[in-house]
Amino acid sequence: MQKILIVDDVPTNIKILRELLVGDFELFLATNGEMAIEVAESKLPDLILMDVMMPVMDGIMACEILHTRPATATIPVIFITAKNDVEDMVKGFEVGGVDYVTKPFNPAELNARVKTHLELKASREQLLRSRRQLEDANRQLEDRNDQLNQAIEQLNIAVMTDPLTGLHNRRYMTQAIEQEKLRFKRTERPFALVIADIDHFKVVNDTHGHECGDEVLKQVSRTILGMLREQDHVARWGGEEFLIMLPETGLKGAELVADKLRMAVAETVTKGPDGGVKVTMTFGVAEFSNMVSVDEIIKNADNALYQGKETGRNQVVVFSPRLGAN
Ligand code: GH3
Ligand code: MG
Ligand code: MG
Repeated sequence: MQKILIVDDVPTNIKILRELLVGDFELFLATNGEMAIEVAESKLPDLILMDVMMPVMDGIMACEILHTRPATATIPVIFITAKNDVEDMVKGFEVGGVDYVTKPFNPAELNARVKTHLELKASREQLLRSRRQLEDANRQLEDRNDQLNQAIEQLNIAVMTDPLTGLHNRRYMTQAIEQEKLRFKRTERPFALVIADIDHFKVVNDTHGHECGDEVLKQVSRTILGMLREQDHVARWGGEEFLIMLPETGLKGAELVADKLRMAVAETVTKGPDGGVKVTMTFGVAEFSNMVSVDEIIKNADNALYQGKETGRNQVVVFSPRLGAN
């Protein structure tokens, strides 16, 4: 049952209001403004019918105070006032009153106003609840969105990573080269590609087993990664083939890097089932310039690699257009 606080210092007025509302509402009474504040704070009525002229504290002042306190600020206050107070009612609205009724009042009108303001209050509260629910739902959505973004990020990493060696994969490298190509267009600084392929890797598998072959691939990956600069990229390009991109590096520089890698790999020992296993690698080097496309530079590096395989392996071959004719 909804609660109404009746505030009036004249017992007859209280009696009239009480008879009008009793049965439909739970009623509380106060005979001055101070008492009204006390009762309002303890009973939290849904509506207050407030006389204006009262001893101790008048209704305007009581309404003003009620509206400064969070617990009672939203309780609608209807002033019940003698006819000649009407002009003062502007003040009543200023301090937060929602309506006024003049004495002597028409019972049907009072009932209608009470009902309207109770409904308004209920709607406001429902709106507030809905808003809180929406805010909650929104927070949940944001949390979910964060989780999804994290999952997507992890997926993106997985999609760009070679599971065996932990190096970047072909997909990543293709994108990285495209990016580097765009940078080249701005800066005109060259970059180099190096394709590196393990020599006679099939023999490693055949002699020491496929698992040992996997270990060699991992070890070679670590060796190469450990020797490159922060800005360089290395990817597992194929089975036992690696692609290295060296930004801001010309052919000469790339050749030096490749030879350092070649020596480091040749010295790397991988623990196998029957002792240490060593492998060598052959390297093909090419440079990106305005004249070639990404596909072409990869083909050029591949050609140089092929040349290296043909002429003895465990060496670095730099692409030159003469080679390209092969
Ligand atoms: P070359 O010096 O001409 O490059 O000879 P190669 O034996 O290294 O080249 P080939 O292309 O004949 O053989 C490559 C071998 O690499 C065959 C393939 O089974 C092996 N291989 C490819 N991927 C993996 C892998 O993930 N793990 C292992 N253990 N072996 C692999
Ligand atoms: Mg090979
Ligand atoms: Mg190969």
